[in-house]
Amino acid sequence: MQVSLSGKTALVTGASRGIGRAIAKRLADAGANIAFTYKASEEKAHALQQELTSLGVKALALKADAVSFSEAQTVVDKTLSAFGSVHILVNNAGITRDTLLMRMSEAQWDEVIANNLKSAFNYTKAVTRSMMQQREGRIINITSIIGLVGNAGQANYAASKAGLIGFTKAIAKELASRNILANAVAPGWIDTEMTDALADELKKQMEASIPLKRSGTAEEVANAVLFLASPLASYITGECLRVDGGMAM
Ligand code: NAP
Repeated sequence: MQVSLSGKTALVTGASRGIGRAIAKRLADAGANIAFTYKASEEKAHALQQELTSLGVKALALKADAVSFSEAQTVVDKTLSAFGSVHILVNNAGITRDTLLMRMSEAQWDEVIANNLKSAFNYTKAVTRSMMQQREGRIINITSIIGLVGNAGQANYAASKAGLIGFTKAIAKELASRNILANAVAPGWIDTEMTDALADELKKQMEASIPLKRSGTAEEVANAVLFLASPLASYITGECLRVDGGMAM
C-alpha cells in the first residue's frame, strides 16, 4: 500500500529543529498539510514553512510555548480555522536539564516535567474535542528510551518520558471508541542539537553500547511517526515503538 496522507492535517509541536522538523517534512512529503509550533527559532521556523509549501502542501508556523495551556488552545483554534481539521497530533516538543538528583533544583525538575509532559496534555486536550467529533484521530507522543530504562543524571527527563508513555496508554483506552489511536515513539540516541551538547567521549561510549553501532537520524524517527500516522497502523493503539538501533532491548 502506498502511504498517502493527502487531505489530512498534522499538527507537530516543536518542529523548528531536529526530530520535529524531520517529522513535519516526512508527513508533508506524504501529502499532509502541516501546522507546527516553535518557541524561539523564528528564522528556522519560517524557512521550514517555505520548504513545506514547496512540497505542495499548506503549512502554518505558529510561535507558542508548549508549556502554556492557553497558547495550545490558540494554536489548535488557528489550525482549525486555517485547515478545517486536525487528524494527526505529534507531541514532540521537549527539553533536557540533565544533572544528578543531588544537584537537581526544583526549577530543573519543574521545567522538564512542564515542557515534556504537561505540553502533551495541553495539546491533546486542545485537539480531542474536534477529533472526537470527526471520529478520527492519531496522537503520537515522542517519548524516549530513557523513559523505559532510566539514566543517571536524567531523573527529571526519565520521569517526564515515562509519564508520557502512561499518558499515551490512558488516552488510547479513553479515545479508542471514537477511532482516535494514540501511540508513543521512543527514540534512542539521535543526532540533533539536543545530543550535540554532550561530550565526544560520552557520544563514543553511547555508540559502542548500541547493537547497530551508530546513532540514529531524525529522519529514521520521522519514518516511524509516518507509519503510526498512516492507514498502515490502523489496528495499533497504546503501543510504544522504540527507534533505537536495539539500544533498550
Ligand atoms: P532539539 O534538537 O533540541 O529540538 C527541540 C525542538 O523543540 C525545537 O524545535 C524547539 O523549538 C522545540 N521546543 C522546545 N521547547 C519548546 C516549547 N516549550 N514550546 C515549543 N517548542 C519547543 O530536540 P530533538 O532532539 O529534536 O528532540 C525532539 C523530541 O525528541 C524531544 O521530545 C526529545 O525529548 C525527544 N528525544 C530526542 C532524542 C535525541 O537523541 N535527540 C532521543 C529521545 C527522545 P525552538 O527551536 O524554537 O527552541
